[in-house]
Amino acid sequence: MSKGLLIVVSAPSGCGKGTILGEVLKDPAYYYSVSATTRAPREGEVNGVQYHFLTREQFEENIAQDMMLEYAEYCGNYYGTPLAPINENLENGRNVILEIEVQGAMQVRKLRPDAVFVFIAPPSVETLRERLVGRGTEPLDVIEERVAQAEREIGFAQQYDYIVVNDVLEEAISDFKAIVRAESCKVKQD
Ligand code: 5GP
Repeated sequence: MSKGLLIVVSAPSGCGKGTILGEVLKDPAYYYSVSATTRAPREGEVNGVQYHFLTREQFEENIAQDMMLEYAEYCGNYYGTPLAPINENLENGRNVILEIEVQGAMQVRKLRPDAVFVFIAPPSVETLRERLVGRGTEPLDVIEERVAQAEREIGFAQQYDYIVVNDVLEEAISDFKAIVRAESCKVKQD
């Protein structure tokens, strides 16, 4: 059985990344890596499903024990990828999706040259602001902080292997699936 693909996906919040990945993850050939974070759960988020919600002390303990593939501080909170389930699922032939921000993605770039890097971008920064306001999960000052953060992140998009612009959702989903399909057919150089 061939190994699965390690797929790293970054997108500023409000890019519709959750909707795109939700569609892709209906296929059991994919495993979604559940990250650990120190941020508070949003309404409806369940521990162990969207994230493993940890205290700063617990998170730092995980770092000390080398249990994270990568981690970063983002908007004042730690976020990190637990290592063990990733290798296990890749070995079992499943495609593993890491949904992480750019600093973490650049760490994975160095650690795992076999990974595929996909950046999901909004059609424009203005569209992004409108989507975040429409989602209504954060107060306005947090939204402005996230928009500024998004502009910085978009500056990193050129360092990814692929950019998917989420203008028309169905097209973005089909682009994403096409990338994975092509990568699965790629002749490996090793
Ligand atoms: P949110 O708080 O909106 O759920 O996530 C904020 C940012 O943290 C998003 O860009 C998300 O992709 C990123 N993120 C989530 N999990 C991880 C992780 O394990 N590592 C890193 N580096 N970033 C993460």
